[in-house]
Amino acid sequence: MLLKCQPYRLEFKHPFGVSSNIRKETPCVFIKIEAENRIGYGEACLPIYLGEKVEETLLFFKKSKELFRNYDPTLPLNFFLNEVDRLATGHHAAKAAIDIALHDLYGKILNKTYSQMMGIPKSKPRATSFTIGIDKEELMEQKIKEADAFSILKIKAGTTQDKELITRIRKFSDKPLYVDVNQGWKEKEFVLEMIHWMSEQNVLLIEQPMATDRIDDMAWVTEQSPIPTIADESAKRLSDLEHLEEVFSGINIKLMKCTGLREAVRMINFCKRKDLKIMLGCMAESSCATTAMAQLMQFADFVDLDAPQLYTNDPFIGLKYDKGRVVLNDLPGLGIAPNPEFLSF
Ligand code: MG
Repeated sequence: MLLKCQPYRLEFKHPFGVSSNIRKETPCVFIKIEAENRIGYGEACLPIYLGEKVEETLLFFKKSKELFRNYDPTLPLNFFLNEVDRLATGHHAAKAAIDIALHDLYGKILNKTYSQMMGIPKSKPRATSFTIGIDKEELMEQKIKEADAFSILKIKAGTTQDKELITRIRKFSDKPLYVDVNQGWKEKEFVLEMIHWMSEQNVLLIEQPMATDRIDDMAWVTEQSPIPTIADESAKRLSDLEHLEEVFSGINIKLMKCTGLREAVRMINFCKRKDLKIMLGCMAESSCATTAMAQLMQFADFVDLDAPQLYTNDPFIGLKYDKGRVVLNDLPGLGIAPNPEFLSF
């Protein structure tokens, strides 16, 4: 089994603003794993806030190559995923890339789609939210127009002017909103007041309103919140969820945080058992990782898988968008392939 990697820079159509920074591109590393004349593809998406850098991700892949040298096709997928997870702590995006590539590869070898391989129903097309980054009023109007096909907008908030932001958006659109605060709000009384105000503006959920260490305050807010509160930065892997049961109403599961599809499925099962809402999200990823996550849409209460729409140079072909809905194909594995116009490796 052979693992090769290729660093890449995904370029945004518009500079992308969140409460902490504005950026024009997202670094990532694509990988391919070859065995039995099949190729599985994977992606480690590395936005700065994830804290994982290209160089250390490449080193992790170098280390994991050793594992794949001893490939035996009778070994289950889980064997490799366990070994990869044990190689080092952290490196969640790199681990996700390998998890994605192996699911794609095994599906292709078995000539089965992901849902056939896992024995789960194939997801029907689902409406996704479309993210509008923080920007000047003229540009926000333009972005909202570009999002015409999408029935839900996701707003990046977390500044001191969030009411003005929502009021501005309401000049151009009355669509339901998801509001992602990215830990930007401080006092619990302020947070609750903001959530009440937002719930009256057709905001359907609030994501990560406060810093990750504000556990008690967050639980206090959730108890009184009229709309679901969703953990993002607070909930990376399965092990984080036990402490969040009474703290948030739901969890935003992302492959780059949780190390891949295998753990995402475990998190979904945990959420179902504990009656937590399930949101499927993505970092600012290409169609490679986003198509992988879309395989699990059938389990989601909220789908937030719009990232490939934000780029001019998405180097993968996979999911499609039809009238604001995410649609999967029926190709074996995860149904992903590089677009030779942008990437050949
Ligand atoms: Mg978020």
